[in-house]
Amino acid sequence: MICAKCGALVDQTDKNTFTGRVIREYECCKCGHTDWEDDGVALWQVLHDANMEAADAAPAQPEPQSSQERPASFWQRLTGLFLRKG
Ligand SMILES: [Zn+2]
Repeated sequence: MICAKCGALVDQTDKNTFTGRVIREYECCKCGHTDWEDDGVALWQVLHDANMEAADAAPAQPEPQSSQERPASFWQRLTGLFLRKG
C-alpha cells in the first residue's frame, strides 16, 4: 500500500478483526500518515456464520417413524444404482 500523502510505501502496523471484518492499519514511515483498509470478512466470522447455519439446519425434533413409504435416502439410491448395474 502507498501513502496517500507522500507516495512512499507504508508499513502495516495492525490488523483488527473484532468487528467481524479484517481491518488493516498502515503507517507511513516517511511522513507518519496513517491509513487503513477493509480487507473483507474475517475468517472467524465466516466460521461463526457457518456454525449458525448448521445449527439452524439441524432438525429440532427427531423424525417420526411412520409406516408410510418414505423417499429413499441418498445412500439407498446410490447402493441401489450399483446393485442394478452389478
Ligand atoms: Zn507518507
